[in-house]
Amino acid sequence: MASIQFLKGVGPKKAELFGRLGIESLDDLLSYFPRKWEDRRLPAARETSPLLEPVPLIKGRIKRVRDMYTAGGLRIFKVFLETARGEAEASFFKRHSPRFDVFGQLRKDLPEGREVWITGVPEDPLFQSRLRAAEYYAADDDRALRMHVGRIVPVYPLTEGLTGRFVREAVYEAVLAGAGAAPDFLPPELVAGRGLMSPGPAARAIHFPENNFELEQARRRFIYEELLLLALAWAIKRRQTRSVAKGFAYEVKKTLLAPFRAGLGFRFTAGQARAINEIFADMRAPTPMARLLEGDVGSGKTVVALSAMLLAAENGGQSVFAAPTEILAEQHYLTFGRFLKGLGVRFALLKGRMKASEKKKMIEDLAAGRIDILLGTHAVMGEGVRFRNLRLVVIDEQHRFGVRQRAALRAKGDRADMLIMTATPIPRTLFLALYGDLDLSVIRELPPGRRPVRTAEATEETAFMAARDEAARGRQVYIVYPVIEETAEADTKSVKAEFERLKTLFRGRRVAMLHGRMSGEEKRLAMEDFAAGRTDILVATQVIEVGIDVPNAALMVINNAERYGLASLHQLRGRVGRGKHESRCLLVAHGRSGDSDERLRAMVASSSGFELSEKDIYIRGAGEILGVRQHGDMDLKLADLSRDAGLLAQAIEDRDALLAADPDLEKPGHGRLRRRLRELYASRWDLIDLS
Ligand code: ADP
Ligand code: MG
Repeated sequence: MASIQFLKGVGPKKAELFGRLGIESLDDLLSYFPRKWEDRRLPAARETSPLLEPVPLIKGRIKRVRDMYTAGGLRIFKVFLETARGEAEASFFKRHSPRFDVFGQLRKDLPEGREVWITGVPEDPLFQSRLRAAEYYAADDDRALRMHVGRIVPVYPLTEGLTGRFVREAVYEAVLAGAGAAPDFLPPELVAGRGLMSPGPAARAIHFPENNFELEQARRRFIYEELLLLALAWAIKRRQTRSVAKGFAYEVKKTLLAPFRAGLGFRFTAGQARAINEIFADMRAPTPMARLLEGDVGSGKTVVALSAMLLAAENGGQSVFAAPTEILAEQHYLTFGRFLKGLGVRFALLKGRMKASEKKKMIEDLAAGRIDILLGTHAVMGEGVRFRNLRLVVIDEQHRFGVRQRAALRAKGDRADMLIMTATPIPRTLFLALYGDLDLSVIRELPPGRRPVRTAEATEETAFMAARDEAARGRQVYIVYPVIEETAEADTKSVKAEFERLKTLFRGRRVAMLHGRMSGEEKRLAMEDFAAGRTDILVATQVIEVGIDVPNAALMVINNAERYGLASLHQLRGRVGRGKHESRCLLVAHGRSGDSDERLRAMVASSSGFELSEKDIYIRGAGEILGVRQHGDMDLKLADLSRDAGLLAQAIEDRDALLAADPDLEKPGHGRLRRRLRELYASRWDLIDLS
């Protein structure tokens, strides 16, 4: 592939800078999609579109220039222009230097009488004709008119040493050099069937669209392409997982399962029972399980996972249970102790910081098969950890783990079954895009007797009054803030500052703090004290979001509630209502942000994660906590799953038809598609095998 070094104006130095952005070939450069598009046409020619950002600009003839000094050692080069719409002016600012003429270049480029374009920022929003100048171009500069002004202009993510203008020029040259015009890797019937732009024109139009329609068409083409490749990768991954023979057979012996059930003290809900049946059927099947268990906070996923681990143990297999944080791993360790009492199951907690000798012994025991269940954080995926016969991998609260970590853990157990759990109900589109290789079990109901958490918007005052009441009745309270330290934003409250204030405000109560920048040990102590009822009020960040289970906590106060996505709000709310007490969640907004009104109203109206997950506003927030950002690394450059659900549905439909006709993409017309898939998801991502 042609190196960009040979592109006009690039050379080895700039090529190295491009290299830092992962751009080596012309095709890489063309796949470096703009971050946004500026509409730099004259106002009359502009279109209103969510994709186009209107840019203030002046086109006119220079009448007069003035070079001014200010008291602060600053110099201003002022340009007065005559435009079609009257007078305008633009100012360039520079620091004065006694050694050289700071405006020499400007004076040369912007003489009186010349017609020019100048972009910039209005000095005063009321006067669009007075700009603080950014870029300028001569009106007879054809090259500039093709790339920089008088048209829709791409804006790129940059790195030190590369200006937007330079990247734009390089991309333009790459388009001229004919990059991106290679034969289409999409089969012609799909391109025709879906009315997609072909790659050459699309590559040009995504960077230098003539109009909004063209831009939309180009984006549609590339988003479809990304989603089709992703959908294909998941389908192939799914097939490959299921084509392995486990080589061992499970028998439901009930030597452990029966006493476990008898000792639970409650009966499984219908949803739990169904999930267990589905999981057991998978585990007894000749090929490995790859299943996602989805259940709202408090729906009882832990005992479902324990059942699966006991089935493995009954059959002499080892299990590993990975939790996203040390706090959660410890909490689970205690829970396991309670549920596994007297069963003779050997389980151990691998901690980040353990005495070396202790750790060594644990790893030896594990390798010798003297441990049935290993609990821990992602440390259990660490290098030195070896199992004798790992049969089951359980990952709790998956949204905190990346796709790569999931793959790493799985690789530990040759042919092991894998169960992934999440408390974030996932809308169907997101499930298909993020976990397209997995089967799904859902627990829809909560155990009987749970009362929904009453949710309301409140002022800070009301919320603190409620906190005082709860504490007086011996219940515990979480008060959550969005950031750890104070920031410049006046409306945003921080844990550290508020903690100091609340200590005074709630004098006589035991107030503690918990946030992500405390040491592991400090966090553990804070959590332990709270769980044991030694503190009344825990002032915390979102670190408490996942999994923490303190039944005596009856009030959750979320400050700056306007800043959280619906999925996060719901997770936070799930920290209360876990015991026999009537519980409340109070949302304190300190302003508005985007569609925050809609989010807060939805929270008040519904206590069901499943109901919430049907809302668009949920998908946007869920994307964040489910790690769609990780998928940003997975080469989803343009697709946005909350917006492009329709295209995903099309891509999945086309994928299914494609694979039904040609399961291994071996037909001659599919060679290029196969190669592309291999480059992306076999070589770069190691997600699938594709020779
Ligand atoms: P999550 O799905 O959020 O991980 P947990 O597994 O932590 O939920 O369960 C929440 C609580 O409900 C635990 O205290 C657990 O022991 C209890 N629990 C689980 N299943 C049932 C059930 N069927 N009936 C009553 N309580 C249950
Ligand atoms: Mg849980």
